[in-house]
Amino acid sequence: MQQQTPAATAGDAVVIGAGMAGLAAARVLADRFARVTVLDRDSLPATPDSRRGVPQGAHPHVLLAVGREVLERLFPGLTAELVEAGARWIDVVRDAIVWQLGGHRARAESGIEMLCMSRPLLETCVRRRLQALPNVEVRAETAVAGLTGRPGERVDGVELAGGERLPAALVVDASGRGSRSDGWLRELGFPAPPESVVTVRMHYTTRLVRGRCDRLGGPGMLVAAESPPDHRRYGAAFPVEGDRWFVTLGGYHGDRAPTDAEGFQRFADELPDPAIAELLRGTEPVGEAVA
Ligand SMILES: Cc1cc2nc3c(=O)[nH]c(=O)nc-3n(C[C@H](O)[C@H](O)[C@H](O)COP(=O)(O)OP(=O)(O)OC[C@H]3O[C@@H](n4cnc5c(N)ncnc54)[C@H](O)[C@@H]3O)c2cc1C
Repeated sequence: MQQQTPAATAGDAVVIGAGMAGLAAARVLADRFARVTVLDRDSLPATPDSRRGVPQGAHPHVLLAVGREVLERLFPGLTAELVEAGARWIDVVRDAIVWQLGGHRARAESGIEMLCMSRPLLETCVRRRLQALPNVEVRAETAVAGLTGRPGERVDGVELAGGERLPAALVVDASGRGSRSDGWLRELGFPAPPESVVTVRMHYTTRLVRGRCDRLGGPGMLVAAESPPDHRRYGAAFPVEGDRWFVTLGGYHGDRAPTDAEGFQRFADELPDPAIAELLRGTEPVGEAVA
């Protein structure tokens, strides 16, 4: 079936937040609106570094195969650029040592290829491609302080922290889990959207290491999964650009891995599968652990 691209609508769209959701939303809106402005309160580094507004960027992020395909459709050439920057291809079944519920999963060629990289690398490449679109502007260090509109009727723009107002035919809130839209909508006389909260109390401690994984012989994925209810700890390692690995250790319901090197290694040693502990011993740490 052929997809029809609707003609661009006259008018502006504003996206609050230049994280992955905001960037992808802005790309879609760019086909439909005359102008799209993406606002982020953070400074947005040109290089793939972690940033304050997305603290989870210092932890591993897995981009599943279909997610990459969708991003490639939105930003043609993205995959090649990521590979050029050092992202690593793995077959998610063949190149994975996964321990779960008392044993290892079988390994075989699956044909499902996953591209592994750091979240900052993905975000930086996507943002650069978005910024190259003629009708998109990404404004860093620009915090949104509220929505504007006719109370109870419609939202017609945003108000920035300095008081400037930006009118918009459509406002998309992609400001992440700290979103204040519910309060802003209430102030304008709209009912707040319903909210559901799932409490998992999951904790990650992550460290970057550089080197080779002898067990895998190349890039791949190591997972020692929890076996609830008694065993609530897990560990995982994923290859990323720069010949590095993200090693993350964690637990549920209050259990967590320490950030000091000895404590981190000890926690890994206690996982039911030794692969992650071996990787840590055979590689060189890059920087400090983050929690
Ligand atoms: C430890 C961890 C691991 C994860 N692993 C994965 C994974 O493997 N795969 C996966 O798909 N997902 C993973 N996630 C989830 C993923 O990180 C989030 O779903 C995703 O980052 C949400 O993207 P977002 O663009 O909605 O929000 P965010 O990435 O949080 O971006 C929000 C943006 O809005 C900006 N902002 C906030 N308030 C304002 C304001 N008032 N004005 C202007 N700008 C504002 C912030 O600066 C930020 O840039 C993980 C999350 C965590 C915590």
